[in-house]
Amino acid sequence: MNTWNDLKYVETVVIDNINLAQDAFILRFKRNFSFKAGQVVGLGVKTDIEPRLYSIASGENDEYIEILYTEKLDGKLTPMLSILRKGDKILVTNPFGTFTEYSDSPVCISTGTGIAPFISMIKSGKGTNPTFIHGIRTPEYFYFEDILREKLKDNYTQCCSGLNSPKFFNGRVTKYLTENPVNPSKKYYLCGVAEMVVEVRDILISKGIPYGNIISEIYF
Ligand SMILES: Cc1cc2nc3c(=O)[nH]c(=O)nc-3n(C[C@H](O)[C@H](O)[C@H](O)COP(=O)(O)OP(=O)(O)OC[C@H]3O[C@@H](n4cnc5c(N)ncnc54)[C@H](O)[C@@H]3O)c2cc1C
Repeated sequence: MNTWNDLKYVETVVIDNINLAQDAFILRFKRNFSFKAGQVVGLGVKTDIEPRLYSIASGENDEYIEILYTEKLDGKLTPMLSILRKGDKILVTNPFGTFTEYSDSPVCISTGTGIAPFISMIKSGKGTNPTFIHGIRTPEYFYFEDILREKLKDNYTQCCSGLNSPKFFNGRVTKYLTENPVNPSKKYYLCGVAEMVVEVRDILISKGIPYGNIISEIYF
């Protein structure tokens, strides 16, 4: 894990901390840097807890920075993030990361908050004609659902593993990919926890997607 001494950081001001679902939030804060969609920042509230990394979920030209996070009740940082209010101070590193090159017609596969870099891509007008496959347990975690339905139409697949409903694919992203065709000429962008990324990558390779067409960002 990076330490605060390894990274350049500044103190910045919270603009809002929006509660999207029971344990899911969007933290919005003042920006003082430029970034590319797909990059991450290190965040903290004080230097005695090492920075945690978060994908930027706002657009490259937005006035502010947003990150999408879930609170881990037994975690060190996120319980502190969840009580931040407008005007509070946070520590933010310069943006970094290489999950930033999106081909045309990218297939963006994510679970949970792993959708954040793809939201930034959409808000930044990158990655022409994308397809999104997003997996969550229950529907309140379909972050940015309205924008995505409007922008992506049939290219937006919602996989819901914890509730059977005709509105969604019922099951995990991995089940969806196993049961549906893939396109070896497209690039596949994966973002989420390691188990999901590895499982999805194996399914894609077994269905003929070249290894070089699979690009991933792992949350740990
Ligand atoms: C590149 C990258 C991008 C990321 N982007 C996002 C994002 O956009 N949104 C988001 O919500 N998260 C993201 N993450 C995850 C994020 O960095 C934090 O890990 C997460 O928010 C938890 O932080 P925390 O301090 O609350 O929990 P931590 O204190 O780090 O603990 C996390 C979990 O691990 C368990 N744990 C801690 N220590 C141990 C141990 N020694 N043994 C076993 N279990 C342990 C805890 O009980 C807890 O459940 C990203 C991670 C990476 C690497």
